[in-house]
Amino acid sequence: MRWRTVLVVFLLLLVPGLSGAAATVSGAPATVSTLTSAPAPGGIRGPDSYWPYDGNGGTNALHYDVRIAYNFSERILRGRTVVTMRANRALSSFSLDLLLPVSAVKVNGWTARFTRPNHHELKIIPRSAISAGKTFKVEVVYRGKPSQRGYAGERNWLADRHEFVTMNQPHMAPWWFPSNDHPSDKATFDIRVNLPKAKRVISNGIRVSRKVIGTRAVTHWRMSDPMATYLAVVAAGDFLMEASRTSSGIPVYNAVSSRLSSAERRSSLRALRRTAGITEWLKGQFGPYPFSSIGGVVTNLDVGFALENQTRPTYGSWIYTGVIVHEVAHQWFGDSVSVRKWRDIWLNEGFATYAEVLYDATHGGKSVEAWLDGVYASACQSPTSSFWTLKLDNPGAAHIFDGAVYDRGAMVLAALRNRIGAAELQRVLRLWVTAHRDGNASVAQFEAFTEARTGEDLDGFFDAWLRGARAPAGTAENGLRHACP
Ligand SMILES: [Zn+2]
Repeated sequence: MRWRTVLVVFLLLLVPGLSGAAATVSGAPATVSTLTSAPAPGGIRGPDSYWPYDGNGGTNALHYDVRIAYNFSERILRGRTVVTMRANRALSSFSLDLLLPVSAVKVNGWTARFTRPNHHELKIIPRSAISAGKTFKVEVVYRGKPSQRGYAGERNWLADRHEFVTMNQPHMAPWWFPSNDHPSDKATFDIRVNLPKAKRVISNGIRVSRKVIGTRAVTHWRMSDPMATYLAVVAAGDFLMEASRTSSGIPVYNAVSSRLSSAERRSSLRALRRTAGITEWLKGQFGPYPFSSIGGVVTNLDVGFALENQTRPTYGSWIYTGVIVHEVAHQWFGDSVSVRKWRDIWLNEGFATYAEVLYDATHGGKSVEAWLDGVYASACQSPTSSFWTLKLDNPGAAHIFDGAVYDRGAMVLAALRNRIGAAELQRVLRLWVTAHRDGNASVAQFEAFTEARTGEDLDGFFDAWLRGARAPAGTAENGLRHACP
């Protein structure tokens, strides 16, 4: 994610209302079932203390077959999604995250009972218990107005009477399909969108087909690589679309809203076309591109941020080269190597911001060293400000998109580059994305990985940069060339 301006103060409200809803939750805690082979409830809580209701217990999602239709004037979304899941243990019930009203649920083709323990949870009670290790299919039929739904202080449905785009972080999926909504549970996707045939649909991965049936068309996109739920995107409306390839043959799908002014359309398309070259440049830095396509979408909707949706980043008409570098870099750092928990957000934002600095340095801008010197000389004047005291290995739910996560986050890598050398940092980052490709990783893992690969004791370095009580001292050990002026 990249804010339109880095000065925007954005406070995520902490799960209002859910603490009350938790009291209505029924079923045994997930830990009980691990002590016995008897079927037990999977539980509505996931793995993340920042947002405890993100994700669910006892299941692993393997594939989402999402089918939606949308009415732009009534703002109603109708959906039928089939989730293929595996039971991690014997389950008497399990849950999915969804904000829309549900009319029917089937498990392996059999009608199943369901309840709503809170507005974000769909608890499903299958006709018979599901054995540990078994793969099963859950079909959920739902219908509602996503614009009227909120969760965790967020109202993330982005639409007007002509266009909608599902783009947000860390939550977006519950506004349009049922899921285990946490990046630790990735899955592959088929996404089909049914709209009046004049509308165009852009989503993740490769376009499989577009079938016109009377006045409507169903567009089918497929993401064959594992993907975190928040990175699933649909942009639908009046779009101009363009398909091409990068110089090494990676398919590129770009789309620009035709509701933008003609000047904005031209500048947006011109910017989006840089995506192919930027992807090739990033491959040179970080190694093989992790997915089977790339591209981007520029929406006409008033959006104050860009997002790294897998293979298909989304932007406002204020799109510029740096933000494209940032979102495409996230394909390695964030999308392929995803956070283990949201506290690990530095591995996404710090690294994507570092890629911007590196790109700038090799395209006529300041050197990485000069950039670091400049930011440090300025920011060290307030050595105990939140820019320095925010814990980059655990910033807190309200601070995962603070400027410090981005800018100090990039400084950590620039300083590490000074400390171990540019070639060595590049080698470590390439090994890192290879080791965790299509997976998840934590900040602690990155620290241990870097020490193991370089053979250096970097404990003092990471303590000073990631979790210090003040600005790191301007020392060579901290990767800084000058003391604070
Ligand atoms: Zn970002």
